[in-house]
Amino acid sequence: MVSAHDSNLRKGVAPSPHLAIYVDVLLASFRQPTVRRSFLTWAYPSTMWYESLPSGWSWDSLWYGYTRCGCGGIRNNGSVCGACNEPLSPPAEMFVQGPNGRQFPIAHAVPGGEGRYEDYVYLRMLEREWLRPLSDEDRFLGIVEQHRPSARAIVVLTFWTYFETKVDRLYRTAGRQLPERVVEDFMLRHSSIGVRVDRAYRVFFGTNYWNDLKAQGFSDTAELLQRVHKCRNQFAHGQPEAIDDKLVEALVAGLQREHEAWISVFNKRVNHLDVRDA
Ligand SMILES: [Zn+2]
Repeated sequence: MVSAHDSNLRKGVAPSPHLAIYVDVLLASFRQPTVRRSFLTWAYPSTMWYESLPSGWSWDSLWYGYTRCGCGGIRNNGSVCGACNEPLSPPAEMFVQGPNGRQFPIAHAVPGGEGRYEDYVYLRMLEREWLRPLSDEDRFLGIVEQHRPSARAIVVLTFWTYFETKVDRLYRTAGRQLPERVVEDFMLRHSSIGVRVDRAYRVFFGTNYWNDLKAQGFSDTAELLQRVHKCRNQFAHGQPEAIDDKLVEALVAGLQREHEAWISVFNKRVNHLDVRDA
């Protein structure tokens, strides 16, 4: 097939000089980081959850609006409890009597949110490490390229520590009806996270954590967490490169889903030990 360009050459028609200029200008523009970023944003709209947060809100806002229900479950304000399905009932009016017999109303209060102090710190750390600009010091340039971990590998390591605290909390809350020494001993004998999401989980709940996630509609989160777990172990045992940029990005993109997934499983299990199936 003869292209129009070839055809023009054969006819002795030179290609327009303007075309080459346009191409040069286009390429030069694309080399500018701001132009390139704008183009990529247009071509590949970001789906990162945190970009939809109200201005000034940090990643720890994932815990905004949640309170504990009297049943032990986690309730999103204004919705029914995810564990007992009870709506938030209006509080009974209460009064305290003053020295002159006068009645003073007591302000209504609800139990605090499930998110604990360390949750807020972890989420802020993750946000800071993901958003801060990188320098060459962060890029492990002294390591051979094929063995370099992501410059943001700390995001995965920090998240995994956070995840371990949440799994620990799930056991301790679900086991609150058992004698404390029994739960303490169980946790000591099943201290590794790999056991806690699988073998130990079967003892308490009759399945494993991954299957619980899938049953609650979070198969994507189960796959992501299993991938993070595997790569984090590889990182810790001679393969730091296992935590690469793709994994870090996938984890950040899935962080909000993981948050919702943990609450969903927590609510499912908080009042339902399944030790009979052990
Ligand atoms: Zn409840």
